[in-house]
Order: sequence, then structure tokens, then C-alpha cells
Amino acid sequence: MDDDAGLLRAPDSQHHAMDRLIDSDKAKEFLTLIKESERIVLTCHVRPDGDAIGSTLAFWHLLRQLGKDATVVVPDKAPQTLSFLPGFKDIAVYTCHARYCENTVAAADMIVFCDFNTPSRQDSLAPVIQSAPCRKVLVDHHQEPAQFTDLTFSFPDMSSTCELVFRLIAAMGLYGDVSRDCATCLLTGIVTDTRNFSVNCKHHDLYEILMRLLEKDVDKERIVREALNTRSYWSLRLEAYAISEKMRIFQNHRCSLITLDRNDLENYHYERGDTEGLVNRPLEIKGVVYSIFMREDADCVKVSARSIDGFPVSEICKDLFNGGGHIQAAGGEFYGSLDECRDLLIEAMPRYDKYLKKDQRAGAEGIPSASTQTS
Ligand code: 5GP
Ligand code: MN
Repeated sequence: MDDDAGLLRAPDSQHHAMDRLIDSDKAKEFLTLIKESERIVLTCHVRPDGDAIGSTLAFWHLLRQLGKDATVVVPDKAPQTLSFLPGFKDIAVYTCHARYCENTVAAADMIVFCDFNTPSRQDSLAPVIQSAPCRKVLVDHHQEPAQFTDLTFSFPDMSSTCELVFRLIAAMGLYGDVSRDCATCLLTGIVTDTRNFSVNCKHHDLYEILMRLLEKDVDKERIVREALNTRSYWSLRLEAYAISEKMRIFQNHRCSLITLDRNDLENYHYERGDTEGLVNRPLEIKGVVYSIFMREDADCVKVSARSIDGFPVSEICKDLFNGGGHIQAAGGEFYGSLDECRDLLIEAMPRYDKYLKKDQRAGAEGIPSASTQTS
């Protein structure tokens, strides 16, 4: 089981930065917890993305390799674009199989929380998980984690939870137990959270991790194609419609806003995951600093936000939409109508101008003042 040589040590046998980031005592503590546990549950946030599913499934593969009885339990269904991941069909979905999930959680010796920082991000699964009497470990890269676990690995500077899981595995000396399937799940989370190494990918360690995963024979091209560049016919048309008809640019605030209501979604046969990536598109417009997307879901308005140049969209999501996330990628939920949600943002926009760089405050040139949005 001890296999950190080569991976963690530079040729001169100095410790590499990759394992210095993880406290070795804490890594040992986690390894002890794993050894002492027979039944282990891996869980993540609601509306799981590539990093949430990638990190939980990566642990699942690793733990099964170690002979553990592991189960991934998620609050609701994952998007079909992730169905290529090995182990995907074995995921237990609370909204589909509540009783099974409850029994599995109740019987667990340990629960590992991946890719979220507070119990409320699990919606209706939260009370089930929180009432479990077993030991709990947090593995996450969001800012300001709540203290709700016995052991916490929180690294907001990391690109993804999957990057953190890789480093943890390495620090526990378990790299040798990483199978091709495990590596595939890890690289999927890294690829989705960095949009194939185009954001949050400054740190050189990330490329060493990529190299170590490629050594496990992962098919990176397939991962990028399946997780980022494959979509349904209706999803592509919905994105085109959203950009052409429902995007409004606020030049003075360097903001783009896209809203999609129930009618829009029905007209384009919307399915879960179909608007993934849409929020990034307005950032392609020269002069736009941040982009907000609002979607009228059945129970709330789901808000997604992305930015460039360090503009803190996480603040907007925290202040206005009961949410949070990362500085340049955040989200939230609004309980009210889509119009109220939109008006709330538009009214608040001037308050966030202070985060624009000086030369950005003059407003953007080259963007027509008439927006594409009709309503
Ligand atoms: P997305 O826009 O892809 O849904 O989420 C982007 C980022 O914001 C993710 O890191 C996600 O964890 C975070 N995020 C999305 N929705 C919420 C939310 O409702 N609450 C909080 N606290 N974070 C969110
Ligand atoms: Mn993530």
C-alpha cells in the first residue's frame, strides 16, 4: 500500500510541494479512519457537477480497491453527460431511492463529504446525512467551510476537489492503488472545473498531477469530449436561443445577464444539465467582466455566475442569492419570481462597480447599447 516514491519526491529526494500542502499527520489520521471503517459513504452537493461526481466516484473506486464496502450517495440525479464515468450507474440517488440511501447512510462507519462546504448544499439529503452517528470527513475546495466534520481538508486555492483528492491519495501513500477508472474520475473533475485547463490552472503542480493520471492510461481526449463537448440537439439550440434572444448587456457595469423562464425551457425540451456552460459564453465578449445566468427551476430560480479579472461574483451570490462558491465561479438560489430575481440584481449592480478595475469603470466600448433581450 505504501507507494508515494516517485510521485511525491523530486529526484533529489526533497519532498515535492504536492505533499507539503497536505498535513501529513492529518493524512495519516484519514488513512487510519479508512482502515478502521468497513462501510463508507461518499456524498456531494445537490445538482452535482463533474467535480462532485468525479471526486466521489474516484474515492469509491479507490476504496473498493482497498476492499471496502463503499457507496456513493447523492442528493439528486447527475447529468447524463457524466454517464460515461465508470461506476456512474452504481450511484445511489436520494430523490429516486430514498429508503436505500437512508439505510446505507445509517449503516455507514464513515461519511466523506466531497465538493461542498456546508450541509445545506445537500438540500433534503442534509438531515439524513447529518443525523448519521458515524465519523465524518470533509474534502473540499470552497471558501469558508462550515465546521461540521471530524476531519476537514479544505483548500480553496485548489482547482478542484479532484485535485485535492489526488493529493490526499498521494499523501496517504495510495497512488499505487489508483486504477485507470479512479484516474478517469479524477481527471474528469479537474477537466470540468478548469474547463480543460483554461481557468484555475495556474499552479504547475496541476500539470504534474495530469502527468501522473496519464500514466494510469486515462483517455483525456475522451473525457474532454464526453464531459465538456458533448450535448443534445436541444441543449445546443437552447444555448443559441439564450444568447441571441435572452442576453442583456449592462455596459456600464460590464455585466451580462441571461434569464430563461419556464416557457423558454419547455420550448427547448430542457433537461437537467442542458444549460451547463451557458454562463461562460458571454465572457467571450470583449469588455464583459462578469456573467450571470438565471434559470426558472420548479422550486427556485437557480443563479450561476462567472467572471474574469478576479471580479468576485461569489460576493453577489452570497449577498443576493443565498449562495456562494469561488471568486470567479459561483452560484445560488432565489426563492421568488424570475422577474424579482432579475430586478434584485439590476438594482444591486452599481454596488459592485467598486470591484471593477479602474480602466473598466468607464464602461465597455464596442457593445451595442441595445441588448438582445426582448423582455
Ligand atoms: P454552478 O454555476 O456551476 O452551478 O456553480 C458554480 C460554483 O458555485 C460551484 O463551485 C458551486 O459549488 C457554487 N454554487 C452553485 N450553486 C450554489 C449555491 O446554491 N450555494 C452555494 N453556496 N454555492 C453554489
Ligand atoms: Mn468543484
